[in-house]
Amino acid sequence: MRLPLSFEFFPTKTPEGAVKLRAVRQQLYAQSPEFCSVTYGAGGSTHDGTFGAVREILAEGVAAACHFSCIGATKATVREQLGELKAMGVKRLVALRGDLPSGYGVGGEFLYASDLVAFIRAETGRDFHIEVACYPEVHPQARSPEADLQAFAAKVRAGADSAITQYFFSPEAYWRFVDDARALGLDTPIVPGIMPITSSTQLMRFSDACGAEIPRWIRLRLQGFGDDTASIKAFGLDVVAALCERLCAGGAPALHFYTMNQSVATLGVLQRLGWAE
Ligand code: FAD
Repeated sequence: MRLPLSFEFFPTKTPEGAVKLRAVRQQLYAQSPEFCSVTYGAGGSTHDGTFGAVREILAEGVAAACHFSCIGATKATVREQLGELKAMGVKRLVALRGDLPSGYGVGGEFLYASDLVAFIRAETGRDFHIEVACYPEVHPQARSPEADLQAFAAKVRAGADSAITQYFFSPEAYWRFVDDARALGLDTPIVPGIMPITSSTQLMRFSDACGAEIPRWIRLRLQGFGDDTASIKAFGLDVVAALCERLCAGGAPALHFYTMNQSVATLGVLQRLGWAE
């Protein structure tokens, strides 16, 4: 069975990048995504790029989700930006704490994403569908897996409608997280975040930063390919397509792809699943 899909992009820095990204989006729109989302730099660093890309997606006739991070923000600026998003016709937010680059300090009026979710609900009622992040392999700053699960529960109880996971390559971690959430009485859809593998150095860098585990056998195989990008991509396709097949067979509600602003790797996985031509 084909699952609902969503695709994540990040705002580009140059006009040439924006042109390329438009073409990538068109290739992915052929898969009829439920929505496309655009990341938001913590501290508002990508405000214009993020809101601009969201505007474009809406103008292209596709539902857009705007990521929105609260670290370092004040209630007044969040209120103003929520008004801006509402006026743009945005109906879906991915509400996050975010990570400030080192040297920024923390500051701001929000400590955690749950504070942002509660604020959005208090300010805008049911105007937005609110997605939140969750971490089957545990957020790197969490005191413990249990504390991280409770942090997720706090976001759901504050009003989140659904969740997207950090990427992972061990479906067992995802199922365990879903079971643990259900045991707490949380029935929110928990959508696996899928990271296609196209480069081993990039994947290892991201994974170290965000606490996503690359199983030893995958890491060693990737390292063994050295600079042979064709083999990395072919192996990555096998691994990620097999992961998606298992998630699909096990009853995942949808798949959210971290496209990295590229269409080929995501489409490769969807073709392998028999969902794309
Ligand atoms: P929170 O849910 O607030 O959790 C942060 C940490 O605090 C966790 O360790 C949690 O266990 C802990 N915690 C939460 N509540 C409490 C509490 N009451 N007491 C003690 N500890 C607590 N980052 C960006 O900057 N821009 C993006 O666009 C972006 N998009 C993302 C999309 C997805 C799907 C995912 C999975 C992540 C994304 N991120 C993005 C990264 C995210 O901002 C970081 O992972 C960040 O470190 C945590 O954000 P959060 O919303 O999960 O925070």
